[in-house]
Amino acid sequence: MTEDKQKKLDKIKEQILKSKVTPDLAKQATQLVFGAGNANADIVFIGEAPGKHEDLQGLPFVGAAGKFLNEMLAMIGLSREDIYITNIVKYRPPGNRDPLPEEKAAFLPYLQSQLDVIQPKIVVTLGRHSLNCFLPDLQISKVHGEPKRYKGQVYVPLFHPAAALYNGAMRQTLIDDFAKIPIILGKL
Ligand code: URA
Repeated sequence: MTEDKQKKLDKIKEQILKSKVTPDLAKQATQLVFGAGNANADIVFIGEAPGKHEDLQGLPFVGAAGKFLNEMLAMIGLSREDIYITNIVKYRPPGNRDPLPEEKAAFLPYLQSQLDVIQPKIVVTLGRHSLNCFLPDLQISKVHGEPKRYKGQVYVPLFHPAAALYNGAMRQTLIDDFAKIPIILGKL
């Protein structure tokens, strides 16, 4: 089962490479950062786009934000092997600028295919870009930590760990929201 899902994910990765999605971004990036973790996970985390470290290693959330994320996962008894993690945009935007609407739109069908394969119980969106990809009318500052069901999928909007890393109040809010994940999961 897990291997099956992993094979399907590998095919989506090949499709992105073959289809030359966002060729301008691809040209400037070191490599595609497709996603990593457990293809059979109950929880999928979705960030914004790879940064410098992710671009170099080809893996999502391996820099400072990723380290903070790992700490919060440990607080709820999980590790990176228990979850799947990816980004909306899968090439590093130059200079870590925000991804453009057309870049997010170009990757959205592939992101949706990843979710269709994994079929997680919850999708945790990290930051406003990720939230607004799925639920464009919601404001992260208002709905963070509250599960939202849309078209049969449960989403848990969280602040982005990079934004919360050096902001004391937001950091504590993110930690508190993170602690709700097992409770939300337990109720499904
Ligand atoms: N920030 C993101 O949104 N994604 C990463 O992979 C790393 C940092």
